[in-house]
Amino acid sequence: DTRILTQTTLITPSAPVARERHGWRGKCLQRLVRMGLPVPRSFAISCETVQQIASGRPLPLEELSRIFEGGSGLVSVRPSAMMPEWGGPGTVLNVGINDSLHRVLSDQIGRANADAIYLSFVQSYAIHIARLDPDMFAQEGSGALPDALALYRSEMDEPFPQDPAMQLSEVLRSMARAWEGPTARILREAKGAPAEAPLGLVVQEMALALGPGLCGSGTIQFSDPVTGTPRVTGRFRGQHHGAAVGAGAETLYLTRDERGPSLEEVAPEIFADLVRFGIAARERLREEMQIEFVVTGGQISVLDATRVARSARASVRIAVSLARDGIIQPQEALMRVEPRALADLLHHQVDPRAPRDLLARGINASPGAATGRIVFSAAAAQAADARGEPSILVRRETVPEDIRGMHAAVGVLTERGGTTSHAAVIARGLGRPCIVGASGIRIDARARQLIAGGRTLSEGDEITIDGSSGEVLAGAAALLPPALDDTFTQLLDWADEAGGIAVRANADTPDDAITARRFKAQGIGLCRTEHMFFDAERLPAMREMIFADTPEDRRRALARILPMQRQDFTHLFEIMAGLPVTIRLFDPPLHEFLPHDRDGLRELAESLDLPLSDVTRRVEALSEFNPMLGMRGVRLGITMPEIYDMQARAIFEATIEANRHGSPVVPEIMIPLVSARREVELVKTRVDAVAAAVRNERHADFAYRLGVMVETPRAALRAGEIASHSAFLSFGTNDLTQMTYGLSRDDAGRFMGTYVAQGVFPEDPFHVLDQEGVGELLLTGALRARQQQPEITISVCGEHGGNPESIAFCHEAGFDYVSCSPFRVPVARLAAAQAAI
Ligand code: PEP
Ligand code: MG
Repeated sequence: DTRILTQTTLITPSAPVARERHGWRGKCLQRLVRMGLPVPRSFAISCETVQQIASGRPLPLEELSRIFEGGSGLVSVRPSAMMPEWGGPGTVLNVGINDSLHRVLSDQIGRANADAIYLSFVQSYAIHIARLDPDMFAQEGSGALPDALALYRSEMDEPFPQDPAMQLSEVLRSMARAWEGPTARILREAKGAPAEAPLGLVVQEMALALGPGLCGSGTIQFSDPVTGTPRVTGRFRGQHHGAAVGAGAETLYLTRDERGPSLEEVAPEIFADLVRFGIAARERLREEMQIEFVVTGGQISVLDATRVARSARASVRIAVSLARDGIIQPQEALMRVEPRALADLLHHQVDPRAPRDLLARGINASPGAATGRIVFSAAAAQAADARGEPSILVRRETVPEDIRGMHAAVGVLTERGGTTSHAAVIARGLGRPCIVGASGIRIDARARQLIAGGRTLSEGDEITIDGSSGEVLAGAAALLPPALDDTFTQLLDWADEAGGIAVRANADTPDDAITARRFKAQGIGLCRTEHMFFDAERLPAMREMIFADTPEDRRRALARILPMQRQDFTHLFEIMAGLPVTIRLFDPPLHEFLPHDRDGLRELAESLDLPLSDVTRRVEALSEFNPMLGMRGVRLGITMPEIYDMQARAIFEATIEANRHGSPVVPEIMIPLVSARREVELVKTRVDAVAAAVRNERHADFAYRLGVMVETPRAALRAGEIASHSAFLSFGTNDLTQMTYGLSRDDAGRFMGTYVAQGVFPEDPFHVLDQEGVGELLLTGALRARQQQPEITISVCGEHGGNPESIAFCHEAGFDYVSCSPFRVPVARLAAAQAAI
C-alpha cells in the first residue's frame, strides 16, 4: 500500500500537536482550544504528511471523509508554517460544497447565499487546482453558478467533483505543491526562512457568516497598530437585526461610533465576549493578538488568532506593557524589539497610514522625517531659519561650510555620498534626517531647481525627506511626533540591567554631550576636535593656523585657539560630570578646511589679510591628490607638533578646572591615524612634557590616559607594540574599512547600491562591520594588544559602534565599549542587551 498514513490530528486540549511538527497555526489553535474558546473543530496535518502529499503519494479518502462528518459539511484549509511571517499558500474556503449540500444550504440560508458559496469554491478550485484560465471564471451574479459548473465540465471533460473527500485531497495536494514551488521559496527566503522550511496545514470546519439572526465575520484587536496604545480596532461585516438573509450585509464599527451602528451597540454581549477572549488570548499566548471570528445566529466562533502587525513605536509600547502586566519577563520584552526600530522613535516619522508621493530614493543616512522648503545653499537655509521657515538643504554633497546650513535646516538631501560621507556623519550627529547618494535627483544650481522623478521643483517648494527609508517625497507628508515616552525609557533601563557591552557616544559639541547624557551614554568615546572648528566664528582661526608660513605664525594662531579649546573641554567635562571623556587630537583632512571656489579664496584672502595670489598659491601647495591618505591625523601632529601641544595644554588646563569644580575627570587623549609605534612615542613624549609643564605652572596634579586610534591595517597588525605605549586602543572602523577595502568612504555611494544588489558585498561595509575582513583585523589587533598589555581598554568608535550586528561582534570579542553618534545610543544600548541575553 503506497498510501500515506495521514497524520491528521483532531486538535483537542491534549492532542499531540507541536509547533515543530504542525507549524505555528496548528499550535496556536490548540492554545485557543485549551483556553476554552469556541474554536470550530480543527485538524492539524503534520509537515511530514504535507511533504509526502507534495511528492505525490495518494491520500486515504475514507479518512478525509471523516473530517466532514457531523458539522456544517464545509471546511477551510489554511497554511501553518513554523513562523507566521513565512506565509504560505492562500487559504481555501468552502471545501465540501456540492450539489446536495447546495440544496440543503439554499433552504437554510437562502438560494443566493448558497449560490455564492458554491460559485466561489468552483472558481477557486478551477483556477488553483485544475489550473484553468482565471478570466473564464470571472463571471459573478445570478446565472454565474450554472455557467461555471458547465464550463468546468466542458474544459475538464468531467463534472465538477462531488465527493468532499476528493475535493479536500486535491486542495491539500495543490497547497503542498505550491509551497514547494520556486516563487514560494523565494518569498519565504526573503522573510528569513530557510528554503527547505516545512509547511503544516490546518483543516477547519467552517462557521457560516450567513443565515438567520446576527451573522457576520470580522477581526478584532486591542491595541493601536501605529502607536501601540490600548484601543479596540478591527472590522465586522455582517447582517444585523436579523435582516433578511443575504440582504443588509454591511460593515459595522466595532465600538460605539457617531458615524454609524456598531457591534458594541447592536450586540453588547457578543462584543463583551470578544473583549474577554482578547484579554485571555493576550495572557495565555503572551502576545498582543488579533482575533478572527465569525458570528452565526448570535454565536461566536473564533477561527484564528495572529500576532498584531505593528509599527516600530507600537512594538516598544506593546512589549513593555506585556512585561509590566507580568505576562512576559523584561528580558523577553527586550528581545521582542528590533533595536533599529528605536531610531524611528527619536524623531518625527512619516505616518505609515498616510499617502506617499515619491520623488526619488537615496541612502537612508540619518533617520527621522522632516518637511521643509527646498534651499540650495547654507546661506538660504539660515535665511529661512531666520524667517522661522523650515527648510531642506539640498546639495550635491556637503562641505564644512555647510555645517551652519545643516544646523539651520530641518533636513539634508544630497545627490552624492555614502553612509560615512560628511553630510551623513554630521547629520547623524545633529539628529537631522538626512538622505545621501540620491543619484536620481539632479540639481540645477543656476536655475535653482531640483529635478526628481520627472518633475521640476524650485527653491521654496515643499518636500519631505524620510531619512529612515531614504525616500524623498513631494509636499508635506503627514508626520508622527517622536515617541520618547515612559515605555521607551523603561525598555532602555531594562536593557542597561542586562549587563551588555558599555555604550559611549561620539560627541563633539556641548549639544552632542547633552544629547549623549539624555540617552544615558556611559561617557564620550570620541570627541572629534576638528569639528569644534567648523562653525563660522572659529573657521578663520583654524585657517589662519593652517596657513601659517612659519612656526612663529602658527604659534600666534594657536594662541588664539587655545582659550577656545580650553573652554570647549571645560564645558564637556562639566556636562559629562565625571564620566570618561575621550578626546581625539586634531585629525583634519586639510582639504575639508580649504576654500573650494573663487569666492571662498577671496574671502580667505580678506580674513588673512593676504593678497589673493598668495592665498591661491598656498592653497595649491596644501592641496593633495588623496587628502584622506595624506597629511592627516598623527602625521599632521608630528610635522606640526605645536598643534598637539596646544590641544594637550587645553585639555590639562580644563582638567584642573574640572577637578576644582567638582566634576573630577581623567581625560583620555587619543592619537588618530597611527600606523607605527614611533609615532606614538613621539606624541607621548611631547604630551607628557606638556603635562609636566602645566602641573608646574599651576601647582596642581591630575591624571590622564593616552591611547591610540587603530584606523590603519598596519596599526591593527602592529597592535602589540603600539599597545605597550597605550592605555587604550579604539578601532576607528570607518577609516579601517576604507583602508582595508581600498574603498573611499566619500565616494562609495556611487556604486554601493549596485554592489550590494549584485551580492558582491552582503551589506554596505561602512554600515555593517565586515566581520570576515575588517573583523579579522579587529580580533588580531585586540589579541596582540592584550598579549602585550592585558589591562588595555579596547573599543570601537567608528559608525559601526551604533550598528546592532557589529555591536554583537564587539560583545563576542570581549571589547570594553562601543561608541556611536548620540542619537544611536538607544539603539546601541538595546543591541548590547540583546547580545548579552
Ligand atoms: C573612524 O575612522 O572610524 C573614525 C571614528 O574617525 P573619523 O570618522 O573621524 O575618520
Ligand atoms: Mg578616522
